[in-house]
Amino acid sequence: SIDTMIPLKSRSLWNKHQVKKFDKPEDFQDRFIDHVETTLARSLYNCDDIAAYEAASMSIRDNLVIDWNKTQQKFTTRDPKRVYYLSLEFLMGRALDNALINMKITDPEDPSASEKEPREMIKGALDDLGFKLEDVLDKEPDAGLGNGGLGRLAACFVDSMATEGIPAWGYGLRYEYGIFAQKIIDGYQVETPDYWLNSGNPWEIERNEVQIPVTFYGYVDRPEGGKTTLSASQWIGGERVLAVAYDFPVPGFKTSNVNNLRLWQARPTTEFDFAKFNNGDYKNSVAQQQSAESITAVLYPNDNFAQGKELRLKQQYFWCAASLHDILRRFKKSKRPWSEFPEQVAIQLNDTHPTLAVVELQRVLVDLEKLDWHEAWDIVTKTFAYTNHTVMQEALEKWPVGLFGHLLPRHLEIIYDINWFFLQDVAKKFPKDVDLLSRISIIEEASSERQIRMAFLAIVGSHKVNGVAELHSELIKTTIFKDFVKFYGPSKFVNVTNGITPRRWLKQANPSLAKLISQTLNDPTEEYLLDMTKLTQLAKHLEDKEFLKKWNQVKLNNKIRLVDLIKKDNDGEDVIKREYLDDTLFDMQVKRIHEYKRQQLNVFGIIYRYLAMKNMLKNGASIEEVAKKYPRKVSIFGGKSAPGYYMAKLIIKLVNSVAEIVNNDESIEDLLKVVFIADYNVSKAEIIIPASDLSEHISTAGTEASGTSNMKFVMNGGLIIGTVDGANVEITREIGEDNVFLFGNLSENVEDLRYNHQYHPQDLPSSLESVLSYIESGELSPENPNEFKPLVDSIAQHGDYYLVSDDFESYLATQELVDQEFHNQRSEWLKKSVLSVANVGFFSSDRCIEEYSDTIWNVEPVT
Ligand code: PLP
Repeated sequence: SIDTMIPLKSRSLWNKHQVKKFDKPEDFQDRFIDHVETTLARSLYNCDDIAAYEAASMSIRDNLVIDWNKTQQKFTTRDPKRVYYLSLEFLMGRALDNALINMKITDPEDPSASEKEPREMIKGALDDLGFKLEDVLDKEPDAGLGNGGLGRLAACFVDSMATEGIPAWGYGLRYEYGIFAQKIIDGYQVETPDYWLNSGNPWEIERNEVQIPVTFYGYVDRPEGGKTTLSASQWIGGERVLAVAYDFPVPGFKTSNVNNLRLWQARPTTEFDFAKFNNGDYKNSVAQQQSAESITAVLYPNDNFAQGKELRLKQQYFWCAASLHDILRRFKKSKRPWSEFPEQVAIQLNDTHPTLAVVELQRVLVDLEKLDWHEAWDIVTKTFAYTNHTVMQEALEKWPVGLFGHLLPRHLEIIYDINWFFLQDVAKKFPKDVDLLSRISIIEEASSERQIRMAFLAIVGSHKVNGVAELHSELIKTTIFKDFVKFYGPSKFVNVTNGITPRRWLKQANPSLAKLISQTLNDPTEEYLLDMTKLTQLAKHLEDKEFLKKWNQVKLNNKIRLVDLIKKDNDGEDVIKREYLDDTLFDMQVKRIHEYKRQQLNVFGIIYRYLAMKNMLKNGASIEEVAKKYPRKVSIFGGKSAPGYYMAKLIIKLVNSVAEIVNNDESIEDLLKVVFIADYNVSKAEIIIPASDLSEHISTAGTEASGTSNMKFVMNGGLIIGTVDGANVEITREIGEDNVFLFGNLSENVEDLRYNHQYHPQDLPSSLESVLSYIESGELSPENPNEFKPLVDSIAQHGDYYLVSDDFESYLATQELVDQEFHNQRSEWLKKSVLSVANVGFFSSDRCIEEYSDTIWNVEPVT
């Protein structure tokens, strides 16, 4: 039973006044007006769309919180093993629309009948009150607490865990500034701060009662005669801040389960430096307190790149310490012995960012709970599991020991001890391999200053390590973690291919497709969104011309929706001609801008196409002849570059310069258009992705661990052009190689190719040469003819690390195939589109959560 402070005699009164969920439109309206008038202190006379968004959100949130409470009480009473998903990023996007899809409303008149569509109900209820649901939804700022794939993965996982009834909490940070807003000015990316909490956040519950002190700096004391670092020591911290909890309800789909996402915010302690104050230095006595808030002020805007700044390490420790404290408090309530901790708690590390939690748990157990070192370490390693997201060196976290030891002196000692025991075990097992110890050590000695290799620490501190797609999971075993496989054996290393939630990425993003699917499958309550194998039935309708026509119409409607968005972004000017939308191939590459993702390959391909079209015209071909070879196409780009990533920013400028020339060249009569959509984020992705005919996932083989937008495009009936990389491999396996446009070199050849570039002057294919010399001619940048030289040089002078030259010809040839199939065999194309959706089920994040639950966490749903 649950402890309560309320005396027994009062409890029936509590039960009598229990808050009830609304289940009828009138009751929603009641709540809505209640919130407008009391919570917002507004009225009929000044309730605008923003107020309506806030009141609607709070009314829906009321329902979720009631379910949230019940879910949490259920977990407390049943006391099952729980999962904690630690992620420094949760790229949630908007909450209201998602809540409308996921929340469960049962018909009070007929509880046995199927659930109502809450979204339709609220739409109607708002309409009666004088508001359009679409306008209200549009007022919500994105919760952009992440950079890209890794943060969005965490968001999909919490959705699936809630849907499946896994007793799980997410833990992260409540950044005041999420990922910056991107503006494009004169073709350049300009970053502006994303102060997303400007008008408050109706989706969060501020828990002022949950305040956890976290300390930094200071020194280590060993009282009680403890002689070595292995015995209980006392860390006397210097700076002290408070972690305050903010909770976000995460509703599951078709269930009343609502899980929790707890984000921490840093606040100053109420302690006050009276010494300074008495000396008359009031300003400085307050200043130190203010600096506390900077810890959770801003999300580091790097994707796949480790920057190594002290504030970042401070963020990491702040978050790990607060989360662990919370987890330990919950465990201690059950009064179980410590040995049962791993049977009650599974902690998943989303990348190495939360690796300090491993060290912190060891510290708490040894220093505070006085467990023996080895007993503690056994508990730690049984508790944690680590997800690796990259093999790229520049993205693997390392911390200089100087910086680290200054901030966290006791943790550094503990890491040295963990490493000492680990290396002893390694030496025992492989006494003759002298190089192995330095290669496998958690401490890297090779550089000018010793560095802590966080990935190695995460492996040593975990019982399972997983990659995020089959190819990637194989690659980590044979490259960066090879020595660990030798030491631990292969079974510690597993694969869990990433996935995405079909609730947001199909039903919410593409309601017309969802509707067509549910009609076609005769599945009015959309059970297929929980059991995606049902989608395979779509394949039975491949020869049904009416069905294919409807399928095509859905795509066309989504293209119109996107063209409207682009028009709005371009001050009301239509860049893309509306007359020919059905006949225009929408080719997209939207993702973070990164050299490894190779947006440069895409834009070079566009330049090649443009030059070839011009050439045909110059040689006397008619525009019809040109159109035959190079049919109508719009190339759409979107994505942010890290603010300090020079080459990525240059790629953005190049795309915009090419767009400027191509879009204004009347001689090609709108056959080719190039658009860069500014400020790519989750809510824009929800409009962009459903409109694609083709999307590009063209990373250098072996560099993209999984990719998740590839799955999103396929789930929305877009075909993909891609390299044999990341999850493209399994997408091909699932939907069939006839339905994917693969090209390029394989990952196993990358090393040789790079080696060749280093030692042999490059023979660039003539197609690429013509593109590079056009860029060098300065026509794209008349004011600064050398502007794009670094992009040319990286290929022609600096070894072409990302192998653009090696893949260019096969990329062009494959794009030609795409054009021909889209324009000349449209019904075949449509069938491929249907087959893609029919076989995309494997990529539901529900499947991922089942795999993690079975093979890593050993947890079961609580029903
Ligand atoms: N950014 C946003 C806003 C997304 O929605 C996604 C979707 O997966 C990504 C980044 C990741 O894209 P990719 O897998 O192409 O890197």
